[in-house]
Amino acid sequence: MKIKRILIDERAANDPLTARIRERLPGAAIETVSAAGAASIGAADSGILAGTDAPAAAGAGEPGASLPPRAGSILLTHHLGDFVKDFPVTPGSSPCGEKYIVAMHNCPFDCSYCYLQSYLERPMITVFTNTERMKSEVSSVIRHEAPARMTTGEFSDSLALDDITGTALDLLPLFRGTKTLLELRTKSANVAHLAGCGGENLLVTWTLAPGEAIRAEEPGTAGLAERLGAMSLLARGGTMVAIRLDPVIPAWYGADSYRRLLEEVAGAVEPRMIHRVETGILRFTPGLWEVVRERGRGKMLFRGEYFAGGDGRMRYYRPERIRIYREIGRMVSEILPGVPVELSMEDDELREDAGFDIL
Ligand code: SF4
Repeated sequence: MKIKRILIDERAANDPLTARIRERLPGAAIETVSAAGAASIGAADSGILAGTDAPAAAGAGEPGASLPPRAGSILLTHHLGDFVKDFPVTPGSSPCGEKYIVAMHNCPFDCSYCYLQSYLERPMITVFTNTERMKSEVSSVIRHEAPARMTTGEFSDSLALDDITGTALDLLPLFRGTKTLLELRTKSANVAHLAGCGGENLLVTWTLAPGEAIRAEEPGTAGLAERLGAMSLLARGGTMVAIRLDPVIPAWYGADSYRRLLEEVAGAVEPRMIHRVETGILRFTPGLWEVVRERGRGKMLFRGEYFAGGDGRMRYYRPERIRIYREIGRMVSEILPGVPVELSMEDDELREDAGFDIL
């Protein structure tokens, strides 16, 4: 994504991260907005964005409306809430031991199934520049709670813009010498700036899927070969990597295509450098089904039978989930021996039925 315009909340104007982003995007137009203006961006077409380079989507301004990120513009502002948060625990499952860091909202990619479409009210990519408070919160949580992992990949792709924001390298020193991993989750190949920075506290996780699923469902992301190349580059330099087969989209799932995918991973990275494989089958958070349908993107996503679960999510037919998880578990143990497999967002009963150890 080419960033042509930077909107700067007046509160963020003098922050070091604002200066860094301006320096790294020398050709971008700069607009300063008031704090009130920054807060209203995305809440209807406020006029601040008149002439923006992407058309407003239908329903703009309504919470949860279907809003693609506005291509070409980013907003720099302050985050007012907590920077570190707990992942919601799936009813009936054990806590995952991971927390997430809110470094930015939204991302330049446009995955058809992305839950942010129904979650974030603000359509614009938003970078939070009050990083001193973010770092102090992260340090305090590491010191007092020592979570296993903390990720920046919950409300955005951790690396899509990281060469511009520098967030990963800002945070990494806080983790050195502790038992907590900084986990970067990505579908990009934007890792050149991280080569050689690994060590024991960095974990970079790639979401993978067969190439045809990536091309159809994940516009803007790196292709499979690029992701594997980036993973290989970091692993050869000593950085631990992980793989997320999540979401597995049932209509794109085939044992043959996932076997080939895992064989390609094995060809790119030694299994001893793979921290874990995490897998989860497509589910729809409340409101996402409707947003995807409104945007006309559910052609493959809606194939098969989905049912509403007790946590409000729409999930694929349970016996089929179990079948797919069993196949994936068997393939991982054959092709990537010794690499642990985890299920995401499933309860302990399903884990047992699928033959996975309770975490
Ligand atoms: S990379 Fe992640 S955050 Fe970005 S659009 Fe895809 S699913 Fe959403």
